Parts: sequence; structure tokens; C-alpha cells
Amino acid sequence: MTEARTTGESTAPVEARRTALETEHHRLVGLRRDVLGEVSDEAVPASGATGGPGRHPTDGGSGGEDRERSQAVLGQLDQQLRDVDDAIGRLDRGEYGLCEVCGEPIGAARLEALPASRFCVRHRELVERGMGRAGEPIGGAGPVALP
Ligand SMILES: [Zn+2]
Repeated sequence: MTEARTTGESTAPVEARRTALETEHHRLVGLRRDVLGEVSDEAVPASGATGGPGRHPTDGGSGGEDRERSQAVLGQLDQQLRDVDDAIGRLDRGEYGLCEVCGEPIGAARLEALPASRFCVRHRELVERGMGRAGEPIGGAGPVALP
């Protein structure tokens, strides 16, 4: 209704998008390296940290919190890195900038703020809320301050 459908010609130069994504990629890799450096090589958990029948909170130990926080940050960075790499892949296939749910253009402004966006604003909220549990009412007009 607003604009003609995408005719293969993207609203922004592909090269600019690629540059933004690659910049983001390098930034995330750098952050990841920093976190890994803080964890320190000696403190790398030996094999067996995963797959146990459950961890005992009474493990004691020293400095476990920092490591767990680093692991959490690492997980987030890995996720973001994956999104960025995925976005670069979509760029190559000419699918970049389209919502994965509805296939509508995500929007230039939004892509500039979040180059690795996979969903339009509407579906990003739905997907993020739906990650935990499905069936929750999405009618609450809460404060939406997301970029
Ligand atoms: Zn959508």
C-alpha cells in the first residue's frame, strides 16, 4: 500500500550493508576475545562441565560467579555473531532486509540501528515473547522503548 513491492532493487546499497555487518562482526569478535581473556586460560572448565545430572550449588569454589557471568556474556555474543553472519549470508542470497516471518521489508531505519535484524518490528516482539511460552496474551500496551 505504501510502496511497490521489492523488485530486486534494495532500498540501500548492498555494499553499505555488508560493511556495517562486517564492522559489527569484528566488533563482536573483539568483545568475545576480551571476555575469553578475562576468563583466563587456566580456568577453562574441563570436560564434564556439561552433561552432568545437575550441578550442586554447594560446590563452593572460588570465583565461580565471574566465570558464569562470562559464560553468559559469551553466549550472547555468540548468538549475536551468528545473527550477523547469517545476515551476511542473506545479503549474498539477496534476501537481506526481509522479515523471516512475513517476508515484508524490515525497513531501512531499523536495519541501520540493528544491521542483523531478522524480523520486522512487529514480529520481533512476537518472536521474542513467544520464545518463553506460547499462548500469552500480547495485548498489554507496555512501554515499548526498543530501537
Ligand atoms: Zn514480519
